[in-house]
Amino acid sequence: MFDAVVLGGGYAGLAAARHLVQGGARCLLLEASDGLGGAGRCGTVAGESVEWFYHHIKPQDIHLLELIAGMGLEDSLLWRETFMAFYLEQRLYPFSRPLDLLRFAPFTLADKLRFCAGMLSSRFTQSQDLAGVSAKEWIVRHWGQSVYRKMMAPMMRNKFGIPPERVCAGFLHGRIKGLSATKAKGVGGEMLGYLDGGLDRLARRLGRDLQQGAELLLEAPVTALERTREGYLVHGGGRSHAAKVVVNTLPLNYFARLPVNFSFESRVKYQGAACALMALDRPLELPYWTNILEPGFSFKVVVNQSRLGRHRANLVYCAAYLPDDHSLITAPPQQVRDTYLQDLRAMAGPVELIDCLVTQSPVATPVFDVDYRQQTHDLQSRLSGVFFAGNATIYPHSRTLSSVIGSGQRAATMALERLAAVARAA
Ligand SMILES: Cc1cc2nc3c(=O)[nH]c(=O)nc-3n(C[C@H](O)[C@H](O)[C@H](O)COP(=O)(O)OP(=O)(O)OC[C@H]3O[C@@H](n4cnc5c(N)ncnc54)[C@H](O)[C@@H]3O)c2cc1C
Repeated sequence: MFDAVVLGGGYAGLAAARHLVQGGARCLLLEASDGLGGAGRCGTVAGESVEWFYHHIKPQDIHLLELIAGMGLEDSLLWRETFMAFYLEQRLYPFSRPLDLLRFAPFTLADKLRFCAGMLSSRFTQSQDLAGVSAKEWIVRHWGQSVYRKMMAPMMRNKFGIPPERVCAGFLHGRIKGLSATKAKGVGGEMLGYLDGGLDRLARRLGRDLQQGAELLLEAPVTALERTREGYLVHGGGRSHAAKVVVNTLPLNYFARLPVNFSFESRVKYQGAACALMALDRPLELPYWTNILEPGFSFKVVVNQSRLGRHRANLVYCAAYLPDDHSLITAPPQQVRDTYLQDLRAMAGPVELIDCLVTQSPVATPVFDVDYRQQTHDLQSRLSGVFFAGNATIYPHSRTLSSVIGSGQRAATMALERLAAVARAA
């Protein structure tokens, strides 16, 4: 019998398993795919190993940076000052420095003043105080109706995929605060990091390290979960595994399908993402990050990866968060590639594709609805002996590798406390 079984081998699961092993637990990790790292995994494009979804690291990503250092990869971190822009009215508007705001033609002078006032007021707000408040209400109050309509509403639609009146203001506030914290010298571009060679290097080292103390099973999807007198029976990878406690990092809608002899319900909805990593025949004159505000574009962000990493190829991501049943989530990958390439050419001029890696996920992120806290406040106490980590548990913090690593460590700590209590009672 295992002390703990961890469901899922993304960064939340890896961090949880590592913490459990360090705490002396006999641990098994079950992962459905053929590799570790989850949404942070890499694929091969133009002969290079690169994340299939764009991934940058922020200086405040403490849990991730500690893990990178712990795995001896600190020297492989590249830090760059990066810039962002908006694309609308068929034009690129840089938007990183104070002067960019002055030159931002879609805004009137009044909009520019309201924008500054909004940013300032968000500094003095705590994300926790905004539970139950809609992002629209909060933005209109502090930034004004015009800034909301011209910039914030289309951005929120792009990012969250639900109407801004349903987006939780606390989550949006967490993201805005996260952004200002990475500003180089307070006013310039954002200082962002990248692990040279790709995050798979970190996942592989973590996997090797974990194998010293835990059992890792790949291509072992968990199919069912049964409650027993001693804990749980986890069915996965064609076998059944008895465990005293379980740490779940799977999306809650996936987890809700597992119980056999008990029930678990979740109201948390998920949003998908369709992302194409393209190797192009020429570099693009785009900053690292371009938000697409132009209506009718199939992708909503262009990430010029060559501005962040050290790559031989000219690498660019085109991506969009979309409803989980959107045609671009369910379409064959070449359809995503062709649709995105057509829009990229409309934006950046003639480009040829050398290679392309398309990744589609129906569960890229929970939908951080206005009543998200309500939906999840009792998560850790709903099932005795099951501890939750991952994307669904990080509210109101930004959805990052670092925050899910922190969540994995916290879930493992709770699991270890439970194991200790069970041992004391025996
Ligand atoms: C488009 C995009 C861009 C992002 N950019 C950044 C960024 O720049 N910086 C950053 O820090 N973060 C970024 N993130 C967020 C980051 O990737 C996630 O927060 C993180 O990877 C979530 O980790 P996790 O372990 O909670 O979940 P996941 O990584 O989703 O891991 C869950 C694991 O469970 C496995 N699984 C699913 N079903 C089963 C089953 N039945 N049995 C067993 N295993 C199963 C999956 O295969 C997966 O490996 C981005 C995410 C996306 C989608």
